[in-house]
Amino acid sequence: MISWVLPLLFLISTGGQVNAAKTIEPAEAPISLSFRSLQPGEAILARLRDDASVKRVVLSLGGQVRVLEPAAENFPGSPPALLGIDLGMKPQVLHLKIKIERPDGKKEFVELPLSIETKKFPSTRLDVAPAMTNPPAKEMETIRREAELVSEVLSLVSPDWLAEGPFQSPLPAYEPFPNFGQQRIYNKTVASVHSGVDISAPRGTKAAAPNAGRIVLAARLYFSGYTVIIDHGRGVFTYCCHFDELLVKRGDRVRKGQAIAKVGSTGRSTGPHLHWSVLILSARVDPFSLVALPLI
Ligand SMILES: [Zn+2]
Repeated sequence: MISWVLPLLFLISTGGQVNAAKTIEPAEAPISLSFRSLQPGEAILARLRDDASVKRVVLSLGGQVRVLEPAAENFPGSPPALLGIDLGMKPQVLHLKIKIERPDGKKEFVELPLSIETKKFPSTRLDVAPAMTNPPAKEMETIRREAELVSEVLSLVSPDWLAEGPFQSPLPAYEPFPNFGQQRIYNKTVASVHSGVDISAPRGTKAAAPNAGRIVLAARLYFSGYTVIIDHGRGVFTYCCHFDELLVKRGDRVRKGQAIAKVGSTGRSTGPHLHWSVLILSARVDPFSLVALPLI
C-alpha cells in the first residue's frame, strides 16, 4: 500500500546569522533534520529517530539521494545522512521526498516542503598576480587536467561514514573571515564566487584534519597551490589549500585533529592563509554550517 502524505508547508525564520543548529522532528516521518538555516550554502543532517520501526528510509532532495538504515549490531548509532543546499541555489520551495520502508515490507511516501530563503553574500575586489587571472597558455592543459582530476575525486562517494563526531575548524585557534559566498572580481576582470572560508594564520602553522577520513588528493594545483582533499564518507568532502607543505599523502587515513599540512600562500593567494571548502555530494556549503551540526 503506497500513500502520499502532504504535510503543511513549514517555514523557518532564522533572524540573520545563527551559529547553532536547530533540530526538527517532522511528525510524518521517523527522522530528524538538523541545520542552522534553510539558506543557500547550508548543510543539513538527517538521522533516523526510530530504528525499530523502519528497515530503511530513502531521502531525495533536488537530485541528492541519501539512505538511512538502522544501526548495525554493535554499532553505537545509525550512520548519518548529510544533504547540502548549494551556494548558488535560488530561493524556492524544495521538496524533500521521503520513502519509508517498514520491516513488514510496507512502503510509505512523505513529501516535506522546505522553503529555501534568500541570502545576501558580500562582494569584494582583489588584486593577484596577473598569471592567476590570465594563466600562460602553457599552463592551460595542466589547469584543465587538474579540474578533471578534482571533479573525478569528488565524484567517488564512499558508502561508509568515516568521520567521528562533530567537524572542527582546521585552524581552531584562528578566527575565520566571514567570506563564504563572497562575489569576487580579481584584477578588475575575472569574476568568481568564493565557495569556502579563509582563515589567516602565520606561515608554517600546522592545519588539522576537520574530521577523520581518507586523503583522496594531496598535490600542488595551479590555482589552489598545495591542496588536501579529505573524503569523510557518504558524499562529504573537505578541501583545504594554499599550503606551504603537505604532511599527508593520497590514500592515508587521518584522525580528527591530525596535522595534514602547513599554512602557506601557494596558488591564487594574497598572503599566508588556509582556504577551506566543504562539498556535500556536489553542493558547496559553508564549512561552519557543517561544524554546527550535532553529529555523534
Ligand atoms: Zn579562499
